[in-house]
Amino acid sequence: RTESPSTLESVFVTISCKSHGVVPLIFKNLTFQIFIGALLGVAVGLLFGDGALANPDSDAYQIILLLKSAFLSALKMLIAPMIFFSLIGGIISIGDVIKLREIGGITVLYYFSTTLIAIVLGLIAIFFIHPWTMYPAIVEIQTAIPESRMIDPGSDSIVLVLSQILSLALTNPVSALVNLNIIGIVTNAILIGLAMVLALPKQSSLFGFIDQVNAVIIQVLKWVLKFLPIGIFAIIVDFTIKLGVGEGNSADFLTQLLQFSMLVISLTLFHGMVVLPLIAWFFGDKSPVKLLKQISRPLIVAFSTSSSAATLPVSMRTCDEELGIDSSVSSFVLPLGATMNMDGTALFEAVAAVFLAYLYGIELTTIMIFSVFLMSMVSSIGAPGMPSASMAGMQMVLLAVGIPLEAIAILLVIERPLDTVRTAVNVEGDIIGALIVNKYRGNSPARQ
Ligand code: ASP
Repeated sequence: RTESPSTLESVFVTISCKSHGVVPLIFKNLTFQIFIGALLGVAVGLLFGDGALANPDSDAYQIILLLKSAFLSALKMLIAPMIFFSLIGGIISIGDVIKLREIGGITVLYYFSTTLIAIVLGLIAIFFIHPWTMYPAIVEIQTAIPESRMIDPGSDSIVLVLSQILSLALTNPVSALVNLNIIGIVTNAILIGLAMVLALPKQSSLFGFIDQVNAVIIQVLKWVLKFLPIGIFAIIVDFTIKLGVGEGNSADFLTQLLQFSMLVISLTLFHGMVVLPLIAWFFGDKSPVKLLKQISRPLIVAFSTSSSAATLPVSMRTCDEELGIDSSVSSFVLPLGATMNMDGTALFEAVAAVFLAYLYGIELTTIMIFSVFLMSMVSSIGAPGMPSASMAGMQMVLLAVGIPLEAIAILLVIERPLDTVRTAVNVEGDIIGALIVNKYRGNSPARQ
């Protein structure tokens, strides 16, 4: 006879079953792994910084450097193809020449204006609020080797910078891809994408080809991101040793990092809860409170998945069921926006570049701030709607003003929680875009 287990036993079984389920889940969680990688990195740096890792020529230190450069190179390796194909993929998702002619202009105008507002908001805010400057920079620029700059910030003539940008933009696609010229890559991708929509028949196999290439690139990106914890570990070990984090400035640095994160989150929330709803109110006749309530579901999905692309089906449904937007509009504005329109990402990249420039003791001239502005915009347009996707493009923002690439490690440590909020705002921007485009194309007004 099988005895029914006592209450205590069944409680125990339940708890142990649950813990079996929960423990592996936590270990599989990338954010948790990154946190552990960073923590181990600091511990190893502190413990062995004066011992086994003190000699830069030692094998142990060389292994750390190898892991670090392998990870950064793997990330860098993906920038050009990822931005190029994801942008073409976004544009061909329009799929319809008539729609492109009808609502393409107003859609792009909306994307452009709101992204511009987000970056300007970020840059103006940090002009007044830059709490991290209470503490000194962590690296002297003399010790950091500036990478080659894309736009030479030495020049103080805006016309000269504009002509440099133009010559970068109008480069042949192969040379732009090979030389990691992000402005050229984005320009070519937009032109090629538009030309494909206009010149090819709908059933052309080239469309399917681009989608498949994108799926392959995203798979490779997923593999690279799996190594994030190891990459971060190596970068943080090196960072801890080089900066002497154990010598009393670690608390300052952590405070700076926290201040930066809080500022980014506050600004992103301000953009998402004040600026965008006001735009929706003025141009879409939608009361802010009601709107935020109606779109709460896709915002929660975006927040929890950190992926605009993964949120697309929910956003489509909300546009249809809650906002009464014509599906021909949402099927144009939302998929394109999931790639091209990322207000939260642009704001994050601009503020992050200014923050890192301070940490690395790099003084930003007006022209350099203009470069940050421009590159944040271009890189947010090119980033696919995936978790942490903007980190690859972020490298280009850093390169544009000569911030060493390894600075990206600082962002990677705090990147996961920040990605949640900025993705929600990215998705919100797309939905409000659909609302406004729907109204201005002269359709029947949205259900209130
Ligand atoms: N996770 C963001 C999105 O999907 C992209 C990024 O900023 O990394 O919209």
